[in-house]
Amino acid sequence: MSTAATLRRALAVVRPRCGRSPRGRFLTRSYSEGVRRTTKAVRKTAIHRGFWVETESPSSWTVESSSESLLSESELISLGHPELRQPVLLHRPWLRDACQCDVCVDPSSGQKRFATVDVPGDLPVSNAVRCEDGSLEITWENDFHTHGTHVSRYPRQEIEAYFSKRENDPQKRRLWDREVLESLNPFYGYTEFMDGKADYLSAMATLRSHGAIFLRNVPLSKHCVELLAFKIGILQHTFYGKSWDVWSKPDAENVAYTSSYLGLHQDLLYMGDPPRIQLLHCLKNTCQGGESLFSDGLRAGSQLKSGFPHMLGPLAKQRVGYHYQKGEHHYHRDRTILNEYSGAAYWSPPFQTPWQPLKKTPKGIEHYKAWKEAARKFKSLLEQEEYVYEYKMKEGECAIFDNLRVLHGRRQFDTSTGERWLRGAYVGNDSFKGKLHSLNNALPRAQYPHIVEQAMGLLRT
Ligand SMILES: [Zn+2]
Repeated sequence: MSTAATLRRALAVVRPRCGRSPRGRFLTRSYSEGVRRTTKAVRKTAIHRGFWVETESPSSWTVESSSESLLSESELISLGHPELRQPVLLHRPWLRDACQCDVCVDPSSGQKRFATVDVPGDLPVSNAVRCEDGSLEITWENDFHTHGTHVSRYPRQEIEAYFSKRENDPQKRRLWDREVLESLNPFYGYTEFMDGKADYLSAMATLRSHGAIFLRNVPLSKHCVELLAFKIGILQHTFYGKSWDVWSKPDAENVAYTSSYLGLHQDLLYMGDPPRIQLLHCLKNTCQGGESLFSDGLRAGSQLKSGFPHMLGPLAKQRVGYHYQKGEHHYHRDRTILNEYSGAAYWSPPFQTPWQPLKKTPKGIEHYKAWKEAARKFKSLLEQEEYVYEYKMKEGECAIFDNLRVLHGRRQFDTSTGERWLRGAYVGNDSFKGKLHSLNNALPRAQYPHIVEQAMGLLRT
């Protein structure tokens, strides 16, 4: 958690004692209640949002605590703002804990040198000032950690965040159906991607927003897919290996053999930590058929949630079992199809266990029937033609998609007419999230309408 988030969280539990505020009002309610009342009744410009207050000029805060109160036993430091009647209260032990100086946090490892519980409750302060650069400087006396005077400086952006409009969870995700993805045409060049410059950033932004991109002109080497994976995060090694082949060759003994249709699914849902990103590099594709299919599970889930709310319960409660059992590799995991809050979906019928979890009672059977009806609806939201992006990959192309969001499948193909060879690799969830976070400021920004609005707009059934 960032320091800002930690600071904000701590604000949630700070409740001032009853007493006189610097502006002469009695504080008898919790802080947040007070601010809500104040802002609603008195100042229309200052809006209370959770633990934040939204002011016109976040930089206009001042230290309100008097020098006497600083040296007193008070456990608070008050920051005032002309647009607010009540101060923002910082809890001293919590503020001391947040110090990021080299004495408190090892600069090379980034690790804290003391635990939060080591910070005492009694923390005399000899000085609290707003510096010229807008930061807050606190001078602690008889410091528990340094056994002397300790000066902490809290950066401007951390402090102003308490008075600022919170970045209102911008909608970074864009739901898509076939039409949306076709018009986006998310194709990028391999060399440009590996360069890590503008095209790479734009591709990564699309992978974040839409969960699917395609690269062209990827060299026809087995190892390229691994090199690509490391541009996106850390390769996730599974029992398939670091990278693996999906390979079909003509079979002279059975020329009529046709590799069958593979329905839309996600990979490795039977694992506790299924891969986040999947890469499929096409090295050969001369067979007839074998078109790749993709469908946005987040869209389908969000559409079901918004358009058919009575079906949400069964899909968000009833678990589905997935497994893999071959040789020494035994995996099993139960998951619900939908996440009630996020609309995220898990769907992988080919890997279901034969015995699905079911209560053998009249109620259990009713639930199962309701679940099945809802699951059938969900399937139609995934599979209807207008929702599926279909593309026959060419040699030297690589599909890169979010396995926890986008489902993939392929049409049947005829191995008597040629060869089909894909090389795949996975990237782990944490490492992909970390990569996006590290790139955050560099990624081109796009804000999309709220997800419910998008889902309803794309709903055609
Ligand atoms: Zn420090």
